[in-house]
Amino acid sequence: MTDLATRDTLAVPTLDVAAVRADFPILARQVHGRPLVYLDNAATSQTPRPVIEVFDDYYGRYNANIHRGLHTLADEATAAFEGTRETVRAFLNAAEPREIVFTRGTTEAINLVANAWGRANLKAGDEVLISRLEHHSNIVPWQLLARELGFTIKVIPVDERGVLDLDAYARLFTERTRLVAVNHVSNAFGTVNPVRELARIAHDRGALILVDGAQAAPHQAVDVRDIDADFYAFSGHKVYGPTGAGVLYGKAELLEAMPPWQGGGEMIATVSFERETTFAAIPHKFEAGTPAIAEVIALGAALDWVSRVGIAAIADWEARLLAHATERVSRIDGLRILGTAPDKAGVLSFVVDGAHSQDIGLLIDQLGVAIRTGHHCAQPLLHHFGVDATCRASFAAYNTLEEVDVFGEALERVIGMVR
Ligand code: PLP
Repeated sequence: MTDLATRDTLAVPTLDVAAVRADFPILARQVHGRPLVYLDNAATSQTPRPVIEVFDDYYGRYNANIHRGLHTLADEATAAFEGTRETVRAFLNAAEPREIVFTRGTTEAINLVANAWGRANLKAGDEVLISRLEHHSNIVPWQLLARELGFTIKVIPVDERGVLDLDAYARLFTERTRLVAVNHVSNAFGTVNPVRELARIAHDRGALILVDGAQAAPHQAVDVRDIDADFYAFSGHKVYGPTGAGVLYGKAELLEAMPPWQGGGEMIATVSFERETTFAAIPHKFEAGTPAIAEVIALGAALDWVSRVGIAAIADWEARLLAHATERVSRIDGLRILGTAPDKAGVLSFVVDGAHSQDIGLLIDQLGVAIRTGHHCAQPLLHHFGVDATCRASFAAYNTLEEVDVFGEALERVIGMVR
């Protein structure tokens, strides 16, 4: 049993939300003369002080390019960068640090798999299964490649709650199914997908599974070995880290067999005009060029911060926030929640009769409340539910029950104004 799994079976520690909030300078600011209520965490979470401080420390003390220097600053920068690889390994319970590839984010991680694994392994007549719940970043890379290589994309359907239809999923497989691409948690509806079960079925049928963990990593313990994910991706900026740094986990034997997808410095063993150029071992084979060094180190600080607060405590607190918010908005006349899965992360998507989502978003901002409105990069899902846009409130460790009340009252007020 893993450390994370062990922790989850113990009594859930409570989260000290006042102490958590004290780490986030941005939460002290006012917006339009009111205290900021930030409920757009599924888009980007805010950044705690230890993460912000990494940038001052790095650029003030040991800014240097990594891996190829022999001087002290380069050594220090390399140690901090590679230290984050171990931090991420532990965070995901991966077997080895070399299974962790740094990318710019989830989008780049999925594009890496599509271009390196996909190009080498998919051909005309093959099939890739993608769920209707996906973010565009787990749809479009596969569509671009399918256009070129001629494989078929099949869609795993959802029911009226936004829950994947597992029977239909199992029936979609044929002997040509090579890959399943699904998110762990839906950014638009908050559905938590049974990725372990999805992986088991995929493997039984001889297919691989790529899990988009962008919305899961900030909200629940992730154990890639327990899931048996072949690939797992997430973004730093949604897990209290900076933009520009993200992660692709891949099983070592898969990464080793994949060709590189971008060429340049860092990813080679030898380069020659006379002989074949050879490549570095994983993970460096997939990290061409100078990476976002400070951002990756800051991502490590963010994951350390999450571990200190405790991912089980965060999950438990966000479940309370979601339950409170769901109960509060359900009292509003003409409001319909989209995404009513029994297992949901801290995402509340809704539409309101007679009120355009964008108007609600703009007006509620005037009251200091930041929510997101639009298609949430999940147009196939929203269109399936007959809407172009929803309002989405999404929660993080630093949100409070009082903020949920402010949001509920502000929402009622703006709905009264636009109707
Ligand atoms: N996948 C999901 C489920 C997301 O929510 C997002 C961002 O909202 C992404 C992928 C893309 O993440 P990024 O823009 O950080 O690459």
